[in-house]
Amino acid sequence: MSVEAHDAGIEQLQIQRVRDEILPLFARLAAGEEAFFDNPYLGRSRDPLRPEPVMCSVGGGSNERCWQQVRESRRRPHPETLCFPVDCSACPVYKDARPSIVEELGEEFNNMVYLLRRNEEQVRSAMKFTRDLAGSLEDLDLENHRIREEMNIDPLTGLFNRRFLDESLENEIQRCQHRRRHLSLLMLDIDHFKTWNDLHGHLEGDRMLARFGKLLRASIRDYDRAFRFGGEEFVVLFPDTGLEDARAVADRIRLRFEQLVFTLPVSRNCPEGRDSRTISGGVADYRDGLGAMELLELADQALYCAKSSGRNRIENVPLHVVV
Ligand code: GH3
Ligand code: MG
Ligand code: MG
Repeated sequence: MSVEAHDAGIEQLQIQRVRDEILPLFARLAAGEEAFFDNPYLGRSRDPLRPEPVMCSVGGGSNERCWQQVRESRRRPHPETLCFPVDCSACPVYKDARPSIVEELGEEFNNMVYLLRRNEEQVRSAMKFTRDLAGSLEDLDLENHRIREEMNIDPLTGLFNRRFLDESLENEIQRCQHRRRHLSLLMLDIDHFKTWNDLHGHLEGDRMLARFGKLLRASIRDYDRAFRFGGEEFVVLFPDTGLEDARAVADRIRLRFEQLVFTLPVSRNCPEGRDSRTISGGVADYRDGLGAMELLELADQALYCAKSSGRNRIENVPLHVVV
């Protein structure tokens, strides 16, 4: 057989092996299946008859397909020369394991799969990290929101507190000034609350305040805001609402509260075991040039009118009052 014919025979054989051993690996990989080139020469490269260890500083002498890892993760510059020390092509194990183009392709395929899997793992852990981070940020956001809410809320009544009233009122007034919108403010005060405390005790007083807070929240629209102003005094802000409409809501609240009957322990102070109270209120609407304190004062004046004209009523400041 001529040399040419011999070489052609070998070439044919290699091509056939590529078809049989390498190409199916790509198909398996594409199908998401396990794909690995089982190099028949690898065992020979670890021939026990060859006693001297292969001195690969990265592979540490283990030499079992170390070039997969050497390629990337374990490749470090030499501490003294700062050169990359590992050149697998100089390694006899590496060379023995690749006697033909088929083994070379196979080992390159294994390298590629190794790096692919490692990248996938990195992407997965990056995604998990991102998900965890997003979750933590969401928790933090909720917690911040809760803390901010708590800072603004009166724990006994569940209404907003005085601190938040000051902030909200300033904002609402600015809105009125810029956009020429209506704003009404209602101030409410429980009638003869001191005697309630005196007759039924401070705890029953607290119970009434909490109950009133609930009633107030249930009686207003979502964009109205109710505040505990202090003690047994309350403020409601009605954005985009004129005096008459705010008065009507206030009167509804007054009636509902008047109808609330509290069950109490029977005692000398309370022989029927039940009692109730009323509220008085003053409404003021925003007028050009008013500040927050002035609007509050107007509502307070109206409340004073309601108290002095018999309680259990809602009053407003007459329009002719000049501030
Ligand atoms: P008026 O009809 O004129 O409003 O009379 P009043 O008795 O309601 O008003 P006064 O200002 O004389 O009394 C208010 C009372 O509210 C006195 C105070 O002890 C009581 N009070 C204030 N805050 C609380 C609280 O958080 N819990 C309880 N139980 N009582 C409170
Ligand atoms: Mg009172
Ligand atoms: Mg009062």
